[in-house]
Amino acid sequence: MNTVIPIQVANKESTPTPGSTHQISQERGQREVFCGLTGIIWLHRKIQDAFFLVVGSRTCAHLVQSAAGVMIFAEPRFGTAIIDDRDLSGIADANEELDRVVNQLLKRRRDIRTLFLVGSCPSEVIKLDLSRAAQRLNAQFNPAVKVLNYSGSGIETTFTQGEDACLASLIESFPVVAHRDEPDPDNAHKKLLIVGTLADVVEDQMQRIFKAMGIHGVEFFPGRNSQHVPEIDERTVYLLAQPFLADTAKRLDARGATRLPAPYPLGVQGTSAWFEAAALAMGVDDAVRDQALLAPRQRAQTATAKHRNLLQGKKIFFFPDSQLEIPLARFLSNELGMQLTEVGVPYIHRQHMAQELELLPPNTVIMEGQHVERQIDRCEAAHPDLVVCGLGLANPLEAKGYTTKWSIELVFTPIQGFDQAGDLAELFSRPLTRKHKIAA
Ligand code: SF4
Repeated sequence: MNTVIPIQVANKESTPTPGSTHQISQERGQREVFCGLTGIIWLHRKIQDAFFLVVGSRTCAHLVQSAAGVMIFAEPRFGTAIIDDRDLSGIADANEELDRVVNQLLKRRRDIRTLFLVGSCPSEVIKLDLSRAAQRLNAQFNPAVKVLNYSGSGIETTFTQGEDACLASLIESFPVVAHRDEPDPDNAHKKLLIVGTLADVVEDQMQRIFKAMGIHGVEFFPGRNSQHVPEIDERTVYLLAQPFLADTAKRLDARGATRLPAPYPLGVQGTSAWFEAAALAMGVDDAVRDQALLAPRQRAQTATAKHRNLLQGKKIFFFPDSQLEIPLARFLSNELGMQLTEVGVPYIHRQHMAQELELLPPNTVIMEGQHVERQIDRCEAAHPDLVVCGLGLANPLEAKGYTTKWSIELVFTPIQGFDQAGDLAELFSRPLTRKHKIAA
């Protein structure tokens, strides 16, 4: 094992969504999505004292390196322990090899406080038990370094599920807070936790708005420092900032925390409703809330409106990829006037998506899962002006004359909150502007 430091048959049914007029159809077949390793790219930027060690093949190393792109001169916080032929054939003891690689790494990198062992397809194939490896290495390195594990394997996860698995493993490592018996009738000790990786700039903007509403002590998870442990108990209420965190939410619920139902903070409508849900739960006076939201909301409306002329009436088709598709479709339809031809989503968490589904235009065509050939046929029949899809589909579709937007950009780019609403709209208007310029 070497460390590389980088740098079916369709099965369709329609089910009415409770509380909405949408029919969610499902299909199963060949999928075109990234695996959960991709999440390392934004997670390593956020959690600044963590290291992500993929236990995988050269293919896994190439995926992470090429997705990260620009790490040649930096001391990176991710790498791959390559499972080679000797490991695969059982000649080498993969556990011993892994221990050796981790020892080398931690000796050289004294800044690492949390080490994630990230499972991959090859580590699953050779049945390398990374949770036992993490326990063993924890016993060796505790308390200087916490060693955790999760799977980013393409067999188990798609694209954004890697973040969910990572955050769930972090929560499991937090000490359980003892149950409090003192009553809290005025909710004076209620704590607000924002869950989902956000760019630091977005976190700072949101924190300013919470403070303007008089909500103090708001915590963001994951934080910039992995050693900071938010207190999670029955007084914690949490807002999801990302729609793909089902396992993370389950772990939080198990510790007594309560999820606040809300749409996601994308665009003016979603961000306003998201902050309003926080204000309601934390007992903020309506006038104070409205005052705090007024100026940022106006700025966001102005920034978004600039893109409306270009996008209004244009047809958009979503291939399933990031689980952000429904909130994005709601934003593009309600605030920019785009026509939704089909909204493909890899998986829909009915409860976490309930408020978003209510805001979608009636009878939106939603497809959960993927049968890629059939979806390409439907896309071509719909003649969309813009297609949102993964990198693997973008080039062939561009070659056929379609304008595409890579869904991965929507996860790498800060798009949440009021101050990003204009940038989010621009991510969709830019490919159309470029096409017009080339055609002119
Ligand atoms: Fe490919 Fe699996 Fe490695 Fe992802 S984890 S890069 S799908 S081999």
